[in-house]
Amino acid sequence: MTLTGKMLIGQQAVAGSGTAIHAIDPSTGQMLEPAYLGGTSDHVARACALAQAALDPYRNLALVTRALLLETIASEIEAVGDTLIDRAVAETGLPRARLLGERGRTCQQLRTFARVVRAGEWLDVRIDPAQPARTPLPRADLRQQQVALGPVAVFGASNFPLAFSVAGGDSASALAAGCPVVVKAHSAHPGTSELVAQAVARAVKQCGLPEGVFSLLYGTGHEVGIALVTDPRIKAVGFTGSRSGGMALMAAAQGRAEPIPVYAEMSAINPVLLFPAALHARAGTLAQGFVASLTLGAGQFCTNPGLVIAQQGADLDQFLGAVGQYLKDSPAQTMLTPGIFQAYRAGIATLSAHPQAQQVAVGTAATGPHQGQAQVFLVTARDFLADPALHAEIFGAAAVVVQCADDGERLAVIERLEGQLTLTLHLDDADLAAARALLPSLERKAGRLLVNGWPTGVEVCDAMVHGGPFPATSDARTTSVGTAAILRFLRPVCYQDFPPGLLPDALAQDNPLGLRRLIDGQREA
Ligand code: NAP
Repeated sequence: MTLTGKMLIGQQAVAGSGTAIHAIDPSTGQMLEPAYLGGTSDHVARACALAQAALDPYRNLALVTRALLLETIASEIEAVGDTLIDRAVAETGLPRARLLGERGRTCQQLRTFARVVRAGEWLDVRIDPAQPARTPLPRADLRQQQVALGPVAVFGASNFPLAFSVAGGDSASALAAGCPVVVKAHSAHPGTSELVAQAVARAVKQCGLPEGVFSLLYGTGHEVGIALVTDPRIKAVGFTGSRSGGMALMAAAQGRAEPIPVYAEMSAINPVLLFPAALHARAGTLAQGFVASLTLGAGQFCTNPGLVIAQQGADLDQFLGAVGQYLKDSPAQTMLTPGIFQAYRAGIATLSAHPQAQQVAVGTAATGPHQGQAQVFLVTARDFLADPALHAEIFGAAAVVVQCADDGERLAVIERLEGQLTLTLHLDDADLAAARALLPSLERKAGRLLVNGWPTGVEVCDAMVHGGPFPATSDARTTSVGTAAILRFLRPVCYQDFPPGLLPDALAQDNPLGLRRLIDGQREA
């Protein structure tokens, strides 16, 4: 399995002719070979034309065949073995153990979606049989199922080179829905992207599927990304990255002759509320858990806890003292890219220069290139409420602690928050009434509410919501992690008075797929 530096348009390895992209090992600053030449609008058009040609054959496959593709992709990724992990370590600076775990999660995601595809619940079949004798008007025979939206553009994320990149959650859920996928690789890990793309292309071939089911493009400077989002054959977009990037893609999608949905996961500071009784009972333990979550993966998780909200007083002082103790032994960690490291440093510089922000804890100083040093700052609720600059996400191991004078200030701080992926509550029995009073506000602000845990670590399962109101995501009605992510890439079609010979299998009277259908308002057992 060698790296070619080429894109994969269907089954063809194609050399680009745009700007050269080189991965950089962030732990050394060294450039990695080979160079990946970016694609052009012609390459985008070829990939999209193939995806369009693959759409109907692919979405009409037997569900078992579609599920088999997802399982084969997982097996092919595993078969790449250490070559994939070695390259991902070199391109991201992430520890090997983390990348082994991420590969496991990626393959588990694919296999979970295979299970979902086979079960067919997502077809959400609804049948309202004809009522020819109904008065004053007869009712037609009406049958609804979900169908694939069309070819989907996926933008690989820098912070999950496997689990949210070429064959990550967005691609897996789109393929599960029956949508061909065109991925724009993240320029930070082009080699990792190529190795995974080769695995996907092998799986497509082994399953005998049309080559346009999957393509991989490279590009930097926005040209390829914008061309992809504005190609009329693309019908939806999956994105994880910066707020400015997500907003630019949303604007491009809305500016099309036919606007399309962009499912962008952008920016969150994942507030953690420390309620008084819990803080009094275990300030030290909370500090330990907070520092572990804050510094996990150099803080480069979208669920990183970047804001703590608590009542001022001796218990908060004890918590901050313990945070200082734990953090001072926390080593600076290599960040994913020179650009992300610079953005982190700029965010820290802004907070450090802020007249109302006081640095209260700092990690070990950097000993190598692109290492982020963890930092925690303290502000009053009044200053936080007065200055939105204190609410900004600093992507990395940085957090702001907001000290509130009373419950009223705490509520005001919560109400002022932008939409979040998560909100965490640390509480004891004596805090339950206060937490219950806040719940309506909390539900309006975040996609996942946690009690006595930490937001980093996102389970891939049926009940997970990794989404939330803007700017956490561009569409609060959805999730990008978990099996419900498939719903983003589906739309309902109703078939009225179709003769049996013309009905899709899922809607046939004798239920050949064995689905639990909603018939005349009653769910089948
Ligand atoms: P990014 O700059 O948003 O880039 C992600 C992808 O979007 C790249 O493929 C990029 O392509 C494309 N893109 C960005 N801006 C675009 C535009 N205006 N038009 C068209 N395409 C555009 O994200 P990043 O490189 O991963 O990291 C930059 C910052 O994003 C980080 O410092 C961090 O603040 C934030 N981030 C947040 C999360 C999170 O989960 N919340 C995750 C990762 C990053 P091009 O290379 O062509 O520009």
